[in-house]
Amino acid sequence: MFTSIAGKSVVVTGGSKGIGKGIAQVFAAKGAKVLLTGRDAATGAAAVEAITGAGGTAAFLAGDVVSWHDMQAMAAAAIERHGGIDILCANAGIFPSANLVDMAPEDWDETLGVNLKGSFLAVKACLPHMLERGTGRIVLTSSITGPITAMPGWSHYGASKAGQLGMMRAAALELAPRGITINAVMPGNIMTEGMATAGEDYIRRMAETVPMKQLGTVEDIAYAALYFASDEAGYVTGQTIVVDGGQVLPEALID
Ligand code: NAP
Repeated sequence: MFTSIAGKSVVVTGGSKGIGKGIAQVFAAKGAKVLLTGRDAATGAAAVEAITGAGGTAAFLAGDVVSWHDMQAMAAAAIERHGGIDILCANAGIFPSANLVDMAPEDWDETLGVNLKGSFLAVKACLPHMLERGTGRIVLTSSITGPITAMPGWSHYGASKAGQLGMMRAAALELAPRGITINAVMPGNIMTEGMATAGEDYIRRMAETVPMKQLGTVEDIAYAALYFASDEAGYVTGQTIVVDGGQVLPEALID
């Protein structure tokens, strides 16, 4: 299944931890060459080691998604090391919590900057190469939070995740005649390093609200991203897939 991924060059922002690392590992296990970015070099090196240790091909370039310079360097590194960019997974994101009344304007800018502008900059940096070749796959990591659900404390986060989908739909129209697709995975609650900072109590209570009674794994998200990234999904663009163990479905409290 999805053998078309073998040999492809994949860029994953925020690929050093959590969902991005899961995407990088699953894609590399299918034979893709992966370039990861993130800000912390030590975490990035460990992620690369995990992939190469398992026989995969991966490299890390330290970079911040809010830096246009870093995103351009990321695209250039993928082209130089892996011969091009076939797939971009714009995944890097943060989820700090603050109620609106306590939220500083800088808090809003930071979350929108990393999650929304960072997605835009990653896409913009990889696009010229994809346009030149007339082919490409872009997969965004959005969320159920914002486009479908809400949580107190995450107004900026929800706006950023809904914003990604607004960007995606216009981009899908611009890119459809050029051989490039752009789609988004919408995770529910997934066990990651970032999620772990919410604490055991939050995670236990969250798991209780999920019909499948557990948080998702990074591989659950990676396989959905893999579909959008495959040749087989070539006629799918501007679309989303929710991967949430049924969390958005209940109309009422259920056992
Ligand atoms: P995570 O475990 O905290 O990992 C985040 C990754 O992004 C790390 O590699 C981190 O590396 C990188 N990153 C953060 N800020 C960055 C920046 N400014 N520039 C470059 N890289 C940056 O988070 P996660 O839970 O995997 O979340 C990943 C994505 O999934 C996010 O977009 C998030 O909104 C989305 N999501 C997560 C969940 C969930 O339940 N976990 C649910 C829905 C959506 P450095 O810190 O070294 O930069």
